Amino acid sequence: MSTNEQLFDRAQKVIPGGVNSPVRAFRAVGGTPRFIARGEGAWIVDAEGRRYVDYIGSWGPMILGHGHPAVLEAVLKAARDGFSFGAPTEREVELAEEIIRHVPSVEQVRLVSSGTEACMSAIRLARAATGRSRLIKFEGCYHGHADALLVKAGSGLATFGHPTSAGVPPEVVQHTTVLDFNNIQQLEEAFAAYGDELACVIIEPIAGNMNFVRTSESFMAWLRELCYKHGALLIMDEVMTGFRVALGGAQSLYAQRMQGFVPDISVFGKVIGGGMPLAAFGASRTIMAQLAPLGPAYQAGTLSGNPVATACGLATLHEIAKPGFHEALGERTRELVDGLKAEADAAGIPLAVDSEGGLFGFFFADALPHDYASAVAVDKERFNRFFHAMLDAGVYFAPALYEAGFVSAAHGQAEIEHTLKAARAAFTALRT
Ligand code: PMP
Repeated sequence: MSTNEQLFDRAQKVIPGGVNSPVRAFRAVGGTPRFIARGEGAWIVDAEGRRYVDYIGSWGPMILGHGHPAVLEAVLKAARDGFSFGAPTEREVELAEEIIRHVPSVEQVRLVSSGTEACMSAIRLARAATGRSRLIKFEGCYHGHADALLVKAGSGLATFGHPTSAGVPPEVVQHTTVLDFNNIQQLEEAFAAYGDELACVIIEPIAGNMNFVRTSESFMAWLRELCYKHGALLIMDEVMTGFRVALGGAQSLYAQRMQGFVPDISVFGKVIGGGMPLAAFGASRTIMAQLAPLGPAYQAGTLSGNPVATACGLATLHEIAKPGFHEALGERTRELVDGLKAEADAAGIPLAVDSEGGLFGFFFADALPHDYASAVAVDKERFNRFFHAMLDAGVYFAPALYEAGFVSAAHGQAEIEHTLKAARAAFTALRT
């Protein structure tokens, strides 16, 4: 049996940083990443046989936990029928129908293989539909690693953003503007300055990539209004929130509070693939008609709508569409964050918590943040110590304080109790 350390040494020789996606490397928190051998319900088991309550769930997809029997059966059956054909299959149609059934703003979807691809394609679609180039994104929101989206704010509203990654030429991001999340004044100024050149605004309706930060209702209402007024398309990136915070995604929560609220384009990923590479973007039939082969906007994929991935996604969606699923998931998640808060209070450690459906965040701070600056102005050192104490006690939270947490339907009373017991000891240790 190899240890995590031995595997990490081996990995670093052949894979940059030893990982295939940077946050897995534990750079933010230090220490050796756990190499996961298998998952069982709400638990993951590492190469050394240690068990952890899993609050990452593959960063969102595993909403039913690991190895759900109905999903497993659907995947095995699909695999026996063939891995990939590069020709249409009935299951793609079924999955598209299922997504549309739950998300009324979407009349058609196109399936792709990752959230990055879906966001990149959604932006191309918005540009094609409007004939405009400029886009607005918000600091702290992540929409995958397409060039035009790896951007941080420039020095003023009218200036261009700057690339946040080497290998992204400034010219490639010259049409991207980055604004502060939840800042209505900046939004108004930006629309006044170049609203009529805007193709789209892309936003995470609840940001899960700067821990967990909600949009204020007034901000979202203004954003929607300004987009309508200036003919810019509103893209909701629901890769993380879709089918997780509610069956109809975060947009359904806004629609409950704001009559007629709909985004123009929606992006999904994670849960709709149930752990297989699958994502989607969708909109009205008119907007989607821009896409090849109907329209001039090119978009394609060898493995798009993959038969095994769609089987996994469909089986997952069937389970989560059962009555009461999200209510129960939301209650369990609330129990977790309220419990964490109570343990932190008892130990005299400031902690702010929030959750919606099966998505949650906790902050070593007195109050919940409202933008990127306040989300990162927390006690990092405290977080890192807490993270390792919990990991040692068999609880696997995201290895970075900028990430949201995920609860699955497999998380039961026993897992919550295990977590809160570990948290009690970890918070107490933080006092010293
Ligand atoms: N959008 C959001 C909101 C995300 O959280 C992510 C991934 N965490 C992406 C897009 C990119 O998805 P993927 O990693 O599948 O490319």
